[in-house]
Amino acid sequence: MQHVNHPPGHCQCGRSVDFERAVGSGTHREVACVCRRRHDVAFGASGWTSVAELTPELSVPLSGFSAQLRHADDAERFWFPFALQGGVALPVHILISPSAKIAEVKAADLKVFRIEAVGLPTDARRRWIAWWQERRPASRSRGPSPIVPSRLGRWPAPALGRRPAAFPVR
Ligand SMILES: [Zn+2]
Repeated sequence: MQHVNHPPGHCQCGRSVDFERAVGSGTHREVACVCRRRHDVAFGASGWTSVAELTPELSVPLSGFSAQLRHADDAERFWFPFALQGGVALPVHILISPSAKIAEVKAADLKVFRIEAVGLPTDARRRWIAWWQERRPASRSRGPSPIVPSRLGRWPAPALGRRPAAFPVR
């Protein structure tokens, strides 16, 4: 089984993560590592495994996000790489207030996508991807579900380590 640049049961930071102790229910669950990365955990042939990681970030590009969320006391920020088109992964930013159960997701120069009744950032990621797929029906038939990145295991390592600030902020 392929994993994202790190062995099964481990976070990108190298720590082992107990993927069975996830929050959520059903087929989608989330685990937080000590390093604050969030793992989207799914049950597969080899048990619970991480299918995607969200990396915490200190700030997001402010334009587009609502003042309500930016000023929420419990606002949390994450980003994940996603190939909007072609093979180049761009950072997608998530701003979420777990108490308000509202998230806003923004990729590149797209309009912010607002999600309600969402408590977990990994769930916000899945719902944003579903929305994106809905907008682009042609991409739906292309290979496996984008929930599990198709380039799993051969992501360009520098992209993961690159600071979000290096991307155009607008
Ligand atoms: Zn970690």
